[in-house]
Parts: sequence; C-alpha cells; structure tokens
Amino acid sequence: MRRLLSVVVSVYNEEEALAQFYQVTEGILNTISWDYELVFVNDGSRDQSLPILNHLADSNPKVKVVSFSRNFGHEAAMIAGIDYSQGDGIICMDADLQHPPACIPEIIRRFEDGYEVINMVRTKNESAGWFKNMASSAFYKLINALSDVKFESNASDFFAISRNVAAVLKENYREKVRFLRGYVQNVGFPKTTIEYEARARVAGESKYSIRKLFQFSVNTIVCFSNLPLKLGIFAGIFAGFLGLVVLVYTLFTRSGAPSGYATIVILNCFMFAFLFLIVGIIGEYISILFTELKDRPIYIVQNTRNLGENIKNS
Ligand code: UDP
Ligand code: MG
Repeated sequence: MRRLLSVVVSVYNEEEALAQFYQVTEGILNTISWDYELVFVNDGSRDQSLPILNHLADSNPKVKVVSFSRNFGHEAAMIAGIDYSQGDGIICMDADLQHPPACIPEIIRRFEDGYEVINMVRTKNESAGWFKNMASSAFYKLINALSDVKFESNASDFFAISRNVAAVLKENYREKVRFLRGYVQNVGFPKTTIEYEARARVAGESKYSIRKLFQFSVNTIVCFSNLPLKLGIFAGIFAGFLGLVVLVYTLFTRSGAPSGYATIVILNCFMFAFLFLIVGIIGEYISILFTELKDRPIYIVQNTRNLGENIKNS
C-alpha cells in the first residue's frame, strides 16, 4: 500500500496567497510516490480564506479543512493539524510559500531513509529585517544558555515528523503555553536537517508582530527553564555580600556620620529594581501555572470539511 503524507498548513487571513500555494504544492504532491492529504487549518481568518479553502476541498477530496471558532494562534493551528492528520509522515508548513514546497520530495527521501524528525533549517531569511534576525539569534543564544534541552537556532515552523512522533505530541505535550518547535527537537528519534532558503512571502503581510514575538520568547524561556526563578537566590547572596562589605568598610574607616545620601538613594533604587524584577519573573511563572491549571482547550473547532463528522476539541 502507498504510504500517506499529510501536509499541515496553518492559515490566518491568507486569501491572497492560498490559490498560488495550492497550485504549487498540489503540483509537487502529485509527482511524489506517496499518497497525500493536505490539511488546512483555518485559524479564525476574517477574510475570504475559509470560502477559498472550502472550495478547494469540494474540488479535491484530498484537501481537508479544520476551521477554528476564532483565532487561536499559529501553534494551536499546527497542533490541530497534527491531531487531524492520518499520515505516516506529517509536514507542517506556512501558507505564504515562505517554506518552499520544492523541499517535499527531499523530505520524503529522508522519511524513506528512516528519519523520524526532519528539521528544516533556513540558511537565509529574505523577508525578516535585520532586527528580527538579530533578535532571533539572541533569543536562541539565551534559551540555549538557560535551558537543559538544546534548541537548533534558525529552526523554523517548517518541519516534518513521523507518525510515531506525532503520536507522542498528541498524547503528551498538551501544554497550553508551549513552543512546538522545542518539543519536536527534543523528543528524540532519528533526526536530520535539511537546509532551505526562506523566501519573501508571496502575498499579504506577516501576522507576527514584534510584541507577539516578545511574549512568545518569554513564554518559551519560562516553559523550558527554571533558572530565572533562582535569580532571587543569587541576588540575595549578592546583596548580602555587598552589605557585609559596606559594614566592614564603615567599621574600619570610622569616619563618623557618613555623608552618603547619594549612595543610599542609588543603592535603594538598584535593590528595588532587582526585587521588582524578581517578583515579575515569579509572576510570569505563576501566570503560566494558572493557565495550565485552568486547562482550557488549545483550540476549538467550529467545523471541518472532508473529515467526516469527527470534530474533536483539545
Ligand atoms: N498564522 C496562523 N495564526 C496566526 C498567525 C499566523 O495560523 O495567528 C499562520 C499564517 O497564516 C502563516 C503562518 O502561520 O501560514 C506563519 O505566519 P506569518 O507568515 O505571518 O509569520 P512569519 O513567516 O512572518 O514569521
Ligand atoms: Mg510567513
């Protein structure tokens, strides 16, 4: 029997890119030796994306559509796509053709060689500005320094996983605050990387704002490292040591009433800054604990196409 490849595509307001994406991708999928299904996840688009997807699904039964009740974010969309995929291999990619579908035959070859996690690593990102590129590389340095698990820098939301890995993601790793790429790189299994050049998007604009990316980075650090929580201990030791030094200094110089007004104010400011920073860090962890505790769904599906009646929320 032919093996099945699932291509998961997250879609948020991509009406301008979809037709071209489908045309290019379907063209390539028809040339491979595996059977395929194209699982589009409509992440609460407010434009014409959903009607376009439904139309594609009506003309091609291999096109499946999962449509969310509202926008849940790119990661939630990828998770839903993986949940609904039936394939022996699953590829996650963007709808804007930044992830070249031309890589699909190579991915298939790697699957056939027995690899179960295929990381697509971008060699160059034409669309992101210097700021995004710099921030991204700083972020990977920081997270690798803070966390026990290792992250591939330049890894993207473009990756492929086997059915086994997908099963692990479906069963475990159901955290509400998460970094899917981090899980994929750290589940183990035979792993390989393929390099690709990220193109500029074919149409429309990036849906990720700097603010979203920043929040995303904070969440990732909190999810993958407990080290920031221990900052308080180091700060405490440091402040204690400083106090001791000042004490000894004062005792030995015996300079009478010291005129250290500026010193006191400055030290006070620094100490409070430290304190509030640490309280803030603890707050980040508590907020994630709270989110996990509430156990609300990662996504809610409003309806599906070509997937039978099987609606599952998670
Ligand atoms: N996306 C999504 N939900 C969102 C934001 C984005 O499903 O809330 C999709 C989007 O349609 C695209 C992919 O995620 O297919 C990546 O988004 P984008 O291209 O805007 O990000 P960038 O490539 O600029 O990092
Ligand atoms: Mg993009």
